[in-house]
Amino acid sequence: MATEQTAITRATFDEVIVPIYAPADFIPVKGRGSRIWDQQGKEYVDFAGGIAVTALGHCHPALVAALHAQGETLWHTSNVFTNEPALRLGRKLIDATFAGRVLFMNSGTEANETAFKLARHYACVRHSPFKSKIIAFHNAFHGRSLFTVSVDGQPKYSDGFGPKPADIIHVPFNDLHAVQAVMDDHTCAVVVEPIQGEGGVTAATPSFLQGLRDLCDRHQALLVFDEVQCGMGRTGDLFAYMHYEVTPDILTSAKALGGGFPVSAVLTTQEIASAFHVGSHGSTYGGNPLACAVAEAAFDIINTPAVLNGVRAKRQKFVQHLRRIDAQFEIFSDIRGMGLLIGAALRPQYKGRARDFLYAAAEAGVMVLNAGPDVMRFAPSLVVDEADIDDGMARFARAVAKVLAA
Ligand SMILES: *Cc1c(COP(=O)(O)O)cnc(C)c1O
Repeated sequence: MATEQTAITRATFDEVIVPIYAPADFIPVKGRGSRIWDQQGKEYVDFAGGIAVTALGHCHPALVAALHAQGETLWHTSNVFTNEPALRLGRKLIDATFAGRVLFMNSGTEANETAFKLARHYACVRHSPFKSKIIAFHNAFHGRSLFTVSVDGQPKYSDGFGPKPADIIHVPFNDLHAVQAVMDDHTCAVVVEPIQGEGGVTAATPSFLQGLRDLCDRHQALLVFDEVQCGMGRTGDLFAYMHYEVTPDILTSAKALGGGFPVSAVLTTQEIASAFHVGSHGSTYGGNPLACAVAEAAFDIINTPAVLNGVRAKRQKFVQHLRRIDAQFEIFSDIRGMGLLIGAALRPQYKGRARDFLYAAAEAGVMVLNAGPDVMRFAPSLVVDEADIDDGMARFARAVAKVLAA
């Protein structure tokens, strides 16, 4: 006998899900390119991309084809075996970057957890078990496991969960003197986002990253770039380190890597990778054939001059629109970020109100993000159409007008 099907609505969320999110009142059910539709059929222009995840828009035909093909071939093997999609994707990532070895995981958190464990372990086996200090930055975000929240530079993420992993120190971002003051031979790693995403879309200065590189070399510490948000084409280079011309020892990638399919990667040199041996670390799903097949299809599209150069052109269009909106409404004090990771800082009188603008934007039919309470963030598809940009920005302008009129 069929049980009665009750309608799935936003109210269902409060009845079934652990209350760690406050999702919007509507439920998206379908996406194509840079458009999304909700249960009521209302259409939205998507300038959020999840959170910088769907780098090729929704249901990109090449990704759908890769998923279908792999879905009818082989879904999963344990790590007792390897698989072709993971090996192909790994080869491509190595060929395109500084890396000599790659390790696949499932999320940004896991990639960073792996990177931090690798950095600690490398120092432990190559230098000394006491070389364990990790230097990280205020307002940084690296994930939600206990190790990664402890490296996050925002106590709100890590307070209230008991004793934290020790020997992690935070200093101000873009302040090389502050790093110098705490850097020593006891340091195993400096961990940094080349562009802080969650922390407010703040790009590192070139001299800061170069200074970190020099300090790490002087003290035999590893430089870890968290490119979970800013990597995979988002800046207009495949990875942000290429723009800065500062090469890390370990780099983490996730979000855009799978274009919406959960997958992450840790990139490093062969020498550093050799500190790990069979059994040092592992993951049941890391390097899953489905995930790697989709990521390979995404990589083949993103790592092309057409897409990467397109990012720079599309950024100009976004910035023009934002400047025009600011000229009309006087709401932004700064438009920043790089490529299609765009931050628009709110003027002092609108500080704390980023969420109000975000909700009004959704109401007006455009999905945007905030990065903290004072910054609007845009992380659209890297292949968003000009018409979608114009349309979405017109909707955003209407939302701004509405908030200001309220
Ligand atoms: C999103 C993000 C993470 C965490 O990734 P998850 O997939 O949510 O675990 C880590 N670092 C940065 C820079 C991020 O933006």
